[in-house]
Formats: sequence, C-alpha cells, structure tokens
Amino acid sequence: MNHPDREARWRCAKFSIDYCDECARCPHPEGYCRFRPQCLIFQMGGEEDD
Ligand SMILES: [Zn+2]
Repeated sequence: MNHPDREARWRCAKFSIDYCDECARCPHPEGYCRFRPQCLIFQMGGEEDD
C-alpha cells in the first residue's frame, strides 16, 4: 500500500490491507486475528518486536 508502483502480493485478511514484498508485516501482531494460522504476512514478520 505504501508503494503503488509495486505489485501488492500480500494481503492482510483482517484489515483488508495489501502489501508489497518490502512492506509485508502484520499491523497488529499482538492482537487477536482469526486469520493468523493461514497468514503469510504474520509468519514472515512475526519475529519483530516493534
Ligand atoms: Zn510497499
């Protein structure tokens, strides 16, 4: 969503936000998300604390 010229390959199912490869991370990793078991964004960025 921050790079309109890039292909948004990842989508947050909970917030309906599209991300490119670089920006893909869960916006609320500490909150509950029923999509999390199948969420590739969270699995990619889940190690970060901030
Ligand atoms: Zn981006």
